[in-house]
Amino acid sequence: MTHPPQQSTASLPLASRATDLVGSVIDSSTSLLAKQTHDIVRFAMGSPAPEAIPTRALAQVGAAVMGEHSPDAFDYAATEGDPALREALLDMLAGTTDATTPERLTITSGGMQGLDLAFKLFVDPGDLVIVESPTYTNGSATALSYQAELLEAPVDDEGMDVDRLEQLVEKAGRSPKAIYTIPTFQNPSGSTMSIARRKRLLELARTWGSAVIDDDPYGMLRFEGDPMPSLHELADGDPLVYSVRTFSKIIAPGLRVGWVDADPGLGQLLINAKQAMDTCTNLPLQRLVAGFLRGGYLQDHLVTQRAVYLERKQAMQAALQEHFAGRARWTDPEGGFFLWVTFGDEVDTEALFEPALAEGVAFIPGNAFSPSKRFPNALRVCFASTRPDRIHEGVARLARAVDKVTK
Ligand code: PMP
Repeated sequence: MTHPPQQSTASLPLASRATDLVGSVIDSSTSLLAKQTHDIVRFAMGSPAPEAIPTRALAQVGAAVMGEHSPDAFDYAATEGDPALREALLDMLAGTTDATTPERLTITSGGMQGLDLAFKLFVDPGDLVIVESPTYTNGSATALSYQAELLEAPVDDEGMDVDRLEQLVEKAGRSPKAIYTIPTFQNPSGSTMSIARRKRLLELARTWGSAVIDDDPYGMLRFEGDPMPSLHELADGDPLVYSVRTFSKIIAPGLRVGWVDADPGLGQLLINAKQAMDTCTNLPLQRLVAGFLRGGYLQDHLVTQRAVYLERKQAMQAALQEHFAGRARWTDPEGGFFLWVTFGDEVDTEALFEPALAEGVAFIPGNAFSPSKRFPNALRVCFASTRPDRIHEGVARLARAVDKVTK
């Protein structure tokens, strides 16, 4: 006999933070979709194209670095990261907007751990944390897990509306402890923060004494437009900027390897915090990533990926134009994985989810990207993981589902 969750936890001496954890609608869609047996066009998860995962190169490098002559690849690693990966990563970043120095780098278990470490180090219960609206709610959920109070700052085509943010903070009557931003090809909107706003955000953070948590998994996947300096570069060594990066989108998310670039003054505290979480990041996979970088595979891989994603974005926009012209509007990202689609008030995208799934298409409803659920008639689609012909099919299915729920 099974018990409902409330009954089975009622007798447990749980911390209040356990029952306050909000979980992730985005991540839960992975298991939900795995249970479906019919054909589904998957616009829900933010995964790279399956055919773009460089499996052949990874298998070759993996065989070499994890072969029988490398028992040390299965030992504990240094908490700050395996030297082979740290060195390869420094070389990879040299000359880019994220160029850095060894004492600033910590290898993490994906971008999510970089966020967890940030909120753990900067946020006390009740502290004010700014998040974008919409935002990547796995990030805001992590801030909530450290009992932050969230303030949502609107996002438009130029990223977070920093003037509005200033007004909101004035109204709140206290300074934020941290500002969580995804400045480039934002998840979920796809928008990129302008240089003027980046500079203004840094000024405001200095005035308020707020940490800027600069989360940028997609910046290397620009397929249109001009490159933009990162907050890390513009901050020019300002200790308040803490950058979270990951190999999840540029190589593969299952690796769970990322890095944090932070002020060296934070170094030992980061190490202490990470040692209380997982001792070190998975060593065989750090070696695999290091070998992939050293083997020179990444650059070609990025060139191919950018071309694939541009084609897919255009396919998604063409299909949306065909089926939803005049009924919805959508964003025009210059890189990354996502488009944000906004319907009129007649479409409730949470109510649309089940009928759309029955039609054979999956997306993430807009409310999943706002702690206070501000986007009931928007949705996020990932164009990156689906081939153009299937993108057209998926949007046609979505249009049938929209017709059903609005009749
Ligand atoms: N930040 C953003 C904005 C993301 O989109 C993601 C992944 N969807 C992450 C962080 C987490 O990255 P990882 O999978 O490496 O933990």
